[in-house]
Amino acid sequence: MAVNIHACIQCSRCTSGCPVNRSNLNIRRLIYLQQLSLKELPEKDKEAIWECTTCQTCSLRCPKDCQPMDLVLSLRKEEVEKGRIEESIIQILESTYLFGNPWQRAREKRVDWNKELQVRIVKEGEAVENLIFICCTIHYDIRFLNLLRNFFSLLRKLDIDFGIIGEEESCCGSEIKRLGEEGLFFELREKNSEIINKIRKKRIITLSPHCYNALKKDYTLNTEIYHYTQFLYEIRGRISDLVKRENKKIIYHDPCFLGKQNRIFDEPREILKLITDNLIEFDQHRENSLCCEGGGGRMWIEKKGKERLAEKRVREAFFKEAEIIAVACPFCLLTLEDATKVLGIEEKIKVFDILEALSF
Ligand code: SF4
Ligand code: SF4
Repeated sequence: MAVNIHACIQCSRCTSGCPVNRSNLNIRRLIYLQQLSLKELPEKDKEAIWECTTCQTCSLRCPKDCQPMDLVLSLRKEEVEKGRIEESIIQILESTYLFGNPWQRAREKRVDWNKELQVRIVKEGEAVENLIFICCTIHYDIRFLNLLRNFFSLLRKLDIDFGIIGEEESCCGSEIKRLGEEGLFFELREKNSEIINKIRKKRIITLSPHCYNALKKDYTLNTEIYHYTQFLYEIRGRISDLVKRENKKIIYHDPCFLGKQNRIFDEPREILKLITDNLIEFDQHRENSLCCEGGGGRMWIEKKGKERLAEKRVREAFFKEAEIIAVACPFCLLTLEDATKVLGIEEKIKVFDILEALSF
């Protein structure tokens, strides 16, 4: 989407909705500085572009369709091209280039979890009804094994045909693009698209909203793309008898890339209602949900001594006496779970992905 700087009326709706507006990042000011056509941005503003979580609130709130978030991405692109990026970003870009994932892990280890779960790896030219696009974070972090175990167990119980790409799946490139490394993003997109297009499938189901958003909006795949919450919602009639109702007090956190950016608000809530009558809401939820600060590459950028938004989120959930914070995104899970540890309440409130919260 093109940035429309000159349509800006400096109304500040973007900045007032920005979750990190107490940092040095002032998105309205960035637009204003661009209107002045300065040769170089002031140092403070240049550094501030890395605070953006790419939640897209600013672009969604702008009455003039200026697309302010895209300005941040183009400024990041310039910084990447000039090599003015911090060491942690260099490392994730290098890792993604070399191994196809930002976690500096070998490609051969990508589906180590499959020794236990034995999911079919779909080969070129083969057919499968549901091709599951897993996500680098879920592949490599043992924390997500239970999520995979639960999902595949459910699909098997329902006799649903599914398979995975396996070792050949590369990072979807969502965060790489949002960090400003477009060239690398294009390579990843080409690699994944080539493999995906050679598999005959009815749909792709993604486990992460970041992969969902990338495959749906940044790729041009001629197939249906689902986030798993949409798929479970469609088959909810078949799963309601299988899940255990525990009636725990659950609060649902909307991931920005699922909620705000793709308007998937009801499906996750309806699935959670299969296991509890006690589903509560954050004060800021649905369109107004507060970002966990894990997007836009922020997972890998050093955070300098401020209270994280995830901590604010966890504190509110704890205050509302929730037993479980349910999420539908691996980044939200990691940032919120980390926040429970920072606050020392990890034994009192648990963070689960919906796929873990469902048990059969
Ligand atoms: S919301 Fe849009 S018009 Fe208003 S200040 Fe921000 S970019 Fe400009
Ligand atoms: S995308 Fe989100 S974090 Fe980034 S400037 Fe816009 S509102 Fe702020």
